[in-house]
Amino acid sequence: MNDRLTGTPAPQTPAPSADETEVSLYEVRRKIYPRAVHGLFAAWRWGLVWLTQLIFYGTPWLVWNERQAVLFDLGARKFYIFGLVFWPQDFIYLTALLIIAALALFLFTAVGGRLWCGYACPQTVYTEIFMWVERKIEGDRAARMRLDRAPASASKFGRKIAKHGVWIAIALWTGLTFVGYFTPIRELLREVATASLGPWETFWILFYGVATYGNAGWMREQVCKYMCPYARFQSAMFDKDTMIVTYDEHRGEPRGARSKKIDYKAKGFGDCVDCSMCVQVCPTGIDIRQGLQYECIGCAACIDACDQVMDRMGYPQGLIRYSTTNAIENRWDSRQMRARVFRPRVFVYLGILVAVTAAAAVSLHGRVPLKVDVLRDRTSLAREVEGGRIENVFRLQIMNTRETPHRFKVSASGLPTLGVASETEFEIPAATSKQVPLRLQIDRGGVSAGSHKIDLEVTDVDDPSVAVKERSVFLVR
Ligand code: SF4
Ligand code: SF4
Repeated sequence: MNDRLTGTPAPQTPAPSADETEVSLYEVRRKIYPRAVHGLFAAWRWGLVWLTQLIFYGTPWLVWNERQAVLFDLGARKFYIFGLVFWPQDFIYLTALLIIAALALFLFTAVGGRLWCGYACPQTVYTEIFMWVERKIEGDRAARMRLDRAPASASKFGRKIAKHGVWIAIALWTGLTFVGYFTPIRELLREVATASLGPWETFWILFYGVATYGNAGWMREQVCKYMCPYARFQSAMFDKDTMIVTYDEHRGEPRGARSKKIDYKAKGFGDCVDCSMCVQVCPTGIDIRQGLQYECIGCAACIDACDQVMDRMGYPQGLIRYSTTNAIENRWDSRQMRARVFRPRVFVYLGILVAVTAAAAVSLHGRVPLKVDVLRDRTSLAREVEGGRIENVFRLQIMNTRETPHRFKVSASGLPTLGVASETEFEIPAATSKQVPLRLQIDRGGVSAGSHKIDLEVTDVDDPSVAVKERSVFLVR
């Protein structure tokens, strides 16, 4: 055989021996057709879909003080969250929020396993919504499989177009809502209606929309299996007392199909009738009877499906259930299992979470709605003015973080005869930062040359409890 590019004979590849097989490093995707499932945990999941989506889609439409209640205005570098206005100087609160979210995730994972993945993760929530649309248009598992195998036809084409049309509409609305947290959503909608959207807004609406459509419509379980980092590192938070969705092998095996009427125990069967319903409803296509697998997102769809099978057979529910590895191995009852919830790692996560949350809450509660930065005028460090007095010039950056205009008074202390020679009161509009000039003077007598520490205080004229004191230096030559 010749090399196709050079025409020279290609080196001969030895034929694989009988015990050598070629294994691809890439798994070929097998399309999953999850069957619809109903039951207690499906109801919980749908409850959380409604709750999270009402919050996500609804929040940008809320109004507070005649402005959008929650708005992250990146251009003005101000974050509005109901009555609070956060400035770049408040970055510490965002850090605290991220730490609290991470600790809460650690705590819930240590106790309840993949509760986040199964019920509240956006990937799960949007996949659930997209699958609901798919079922309404194409039917349940068997109908969808038939449709995909069917030859091309107008009816098949119509159903596919309808499904993708609804998916794209949901995805674009999701993208618009997402951008509506950063640009006032009413303005955004007007711009969409008049085809006058800016390039960045267009880009982010499409980007987020395409991500939603691709992840929830096409990639689905692939995101959880191959892309999500949380799926990989969560095993570090698992131990034998973490709640997981688990199949009770002691009770279920040996599995096998049987008539409902026979004494299956006498025939040597366990409770599993090998109906494969738990596999058919699984959104990641795994068989929970093979034990804990990293692909399991803990959605509990298999619990609902198996409980229905148990009901039909007249067997007790819970062949697949939330349990712990210890409880299954040692055949503990639920009381013994619950006794292991409060263990050292849970106390550690809980203790840190409570401490960080309390510190953030106290700090937020005591936050003064006024920020001051003192800037020295570098062009004139110290100069002698009329009457032999020494003058230093400053600029004050005063930030009024409240949503009403306020009048502030500036004073200085720390040196005898120190006083403000410029204007002492300033009106700062609502949620605005303003730079104001400040001239300080002292009598030369009795003050040595060099730098002297002084305090500059800015106080709300109408509410003296709102005051900020900043340290600076006064130079004498
Ligand atoms: S649904 Fe229950 S009974 Fe049916 S195969 Fe799964 S574990 Fe066995
Ligand atoms: S095995 Fe059960 S809990 Fe895990 S992903 Fe599949 S259906 Fe959900």
